[in-house]
Amino acid sequence: MSSADRPRPLPPAEEPSLADRMATVDFDVGGRPHITVDTRVCRSCTTKACVSACPADLFSPTADGGVLFNYEHCFECGTCYLVCNEAGAISWGYPDGGRGVVFRRG
Ligand code: SF4
Ligand code: SF4
Repeated sequence: MSSADRPRPLPPAEEPSLADRMATVDFDVGGRPHITVDTRVCRSCTTKACVSACPADLFSPTADGGVLFNYEHCFECGTCYLVCNEAGAISWGYPDGGRGVVFRRG
């Protein structure tokens, strides 16, 4: 087999941008936050893993060492809860009554 006949490796898959992700979903936002974050716990967190792990970019570090969080555009993926290693920092649940994210079909 010549080098021209060998299969070429596939290019690395590109991560979708936040705008791409947001273009595929709608949100029926409930009045009760389904995720709450105790920022007092976050101040002693050295990793701030939620900031880079959340695919919806909902965690922002603050100057005092805590984080700001907004539940309204949450994809309900659970990643923040999985990566957080500080007990009591995140209380996680699903939105009330079928509210929350709605994934559109292509
Ligand atoms: S939510 Fe968890 S991972 Fe994120 S800053 Fe707070 S303690 Fe750290
Ligand atoms: S559940 Fe997913 S989208 Fe929602 S805040 Fe956590 S990491 Fe972000």
